[in-house]
Amino acid sequence: MSSSTLPPWADIVAHIKFFGPDGTPATINGEPTDGFGEFKDADVKKQIVDALADLYENSPSARGVLDEISAAQELWFFATTGGSGAFTSKGIVGFNIDQTTRTQFMGSNGKIQSDVLQDAVIHEVIHAIYGWDDLIDPTTLQSYDVPGAPPIDFNNPNFDHIGATQRLATS
Ligand SMILES: [Zn+2]
Repeated sequence: MSSSTLPPWADIVAHIKFFGPDGTPATINGEPTDGFGEFKDADVKKQIVDALADLYENSPSARGVLDEISAAQELWFFATTGGSGAFTSKGIVGFNIDQTTRTQFMGSNGKIQSDVLQDAVIHEVIHAIYGWDDLIDPTTLQSYDVPGAPPIDFNNPNFDHIGATQRLATS
């Protein structure tokens, strides 16, 4: 069966690999894998794949980036005990699932919110596939940390990577 006859998600997920269970190549997409941690717990892989499947189903912008994954652009995850991060445009994400459950932020309702796995995963996947910096303004294309840059429109739908942003009324 050729890959073109597979349903889209099955075709994509076949090219999402985890260091350890899916092999330990010496290089991935040209990057040496020295120091890459192996995923020892099969449940972590399942949680990340399930999060990506959910995003693919529910978020058009997440679907856009995940549609880039193919035989030509594999996505690899390796385990890290430090902060999660990505090799930009290399299709490689270092991920610490424990960090996700520890990250909290102030919500618009004034209550502390916990980070969600989908958000943490797609954030790093966007770095790994598109190579975008954090918080690029969709209109000005400037990063949030450029001195003197105009305020960023975080209400822009392009920031809605998990399809769950509450749109603020502007008048
Ligand atoms: Zn980032």
